[in-house]
Amino acid sequence: MTSADPPQLDGARVWSVPMRARFRGIDVRDGVLVQGSAGWGEFSPFWDYDVAESRRWWAAAVEAACEGWPAPVRDAVPVNVTVPAVDPERAHAIVAASRCRTAKVKVADPEQTAADDLARVEAVRDALGPDGAIRVDANAAWDVDTAVARIRELGRVGLEYVEQPCASLAELAALRRRIDVRVAADEAVRRAVDPLRVDLREACDVVVLKVQPLGGVRAAMRVAEAHGLPCVVSSALESSVGIAAGVALAAALPELPFACGLATVALLDGDVTSAPLLPVDGALPVRAVTPDRLAEVAADPAIEARWRARLDAVRG
Ligand SMILES: [Mg+2]
Repeated sequence: MTSADPPQLDGARVWSVPMRARFRGIDVRDGVLVQGSAGWGEFSPFWDYDVAESRRWWAAAVEAACEGWPAPVRDAVPVNVTVPAVDPERAHAIVAASRCRTAKVKVADPEQTAADDLARVEAVRDALGPDGAIRVDANAAWDVDTAVARIRELGRVGLEYVEQPCASLAELAALRRRIDVRVAADEAVRRAVDPLRVDLREACDVVVLKVQPLGGVRAAMRVAEAHGLPCVVSSALESSVGIAAGVALAAALPELPFACGLATVALLDGDVTSAPLLPVDGALPVRAVTPDRLAEVAADPAIEARWRARLDAVRG
């Protein structure tokens, strides 16, 4: 097989594992692994991504399976612990157990209040101590006035940046003029029709890069280069096979000023490998992942059929 050959779909393997806590509105994470001449690739668009959007996710899987990744310039990647919208006690325990020096905290959950967010962020600060870094992610939930009020309140705890506080670029730019906390763009980049051409001037200080939604490691590197802003590599809640692609991107970027959001295998109650990509002393190693536990995490026939149909649609 040459590098131009597509992955072997008859060997595609569908996996499914429960989340340890509800995250991004999902309780179960699932996806497909495909194998090619360069190794394994992951295709796992969330179910709210349509066929057109999912094509970039497929391109990332093909790159991983058939092409491999650019050479790394570092052999480990600092990562943040990710804190779902859990109660303060659990948030404290998650951060303390992680040994990470940076925490990303989900806020603005539709079923929670501003007081819940503040209590969670305060618990995370308590667990990290004064020297740790805290970032919050609102997933585009706030209008500008709400964002100003919430960020001023949460900002008293000390914030490294706030990720996608509002939905549109115009709102992000308006917000940015009213607060002194850095703004990071995530959805505004990864769900854009053309992430290379979206105009981020005025809208953000930091760009979040995710391999699958951007179409692969090389495509994400082009996005980083096009915008010329500091970048953070984050996951799309992949299995360790997909996380390895995020680590490859973080390892290949010329500059990596922030800890990356790649420690999310800890949010899954299971993995495709017996050697999961979990952080040691706040960093992930740059290494290959062998999916040797596919039988244990195999999806049931209904989920398997759903993914096979999705693969057909994306490749059609
Ligand atoms: Mg985000």
